[in-house]
Amino acid sequence: MAGRRKNPWLDPNKEGRSKGRRGKRYCARCGNTVRQSRILKNYNLCEFCVQEMIRKKQKNWVCQGCGRFAPEEVKAGRGYCRQCLCPACGQPDPTAIRKFGLCLACAKQAGVFCLRCGQEAPAQVRKNKGYCDRCVSSVRSTDKL
Ligand SMILES: [Zn+2]
Ligand SMILES: [Zn+2]
Ligand SMILES: [Zn+2]
Ligand SMILES: [Zn+2]
Repeated sequence: MAGRRKNPWLDPNKEGRSKGRRGKRYCARCGNTVRQSRILKNYNLCEFCVQEMIRKKQKNWVCQGCGRFAPEEVKAGRGYCRQCLCPACGQPDPTAIRKFGLCLACAKQAGVFCLRCGQEAPAQVRKNKGYCDRCVSSVRSTDKL
């Protein structure tokens, strides 16, 4: 992926002052103008509305896993952003993916990550049925309790 990260917000110093089309940019949801709040260029949404959507985990706008505002990714991923979908099978599993880079099912199948700490330790994980040497003892002791 190439290209620099562009500023997603309209610049009020440029946008709000001019007359005509560019001067009339406002939030499509609540009607705030670019002079009242920052507005996302691509969606015509003001900062307050974006924050409210994030707080409510608004469907189709905000990832149901990590709570990131990423409408395109969320629409493509049926509620989850790209970062919360398993790169191997496409299933959403935000917690496991943050740890293993894979969903829990794929991480188990791969058999190289400790299911407790996420460390990559193929030999230990195979030997201890899913856990590294460091974790297997504490897992066993909690099992007994
Ligand atoms: Zn708004
Ligand atoms: Zn996400
Ligand atoms: Zn997976
Ligand atoms: Zn471990």
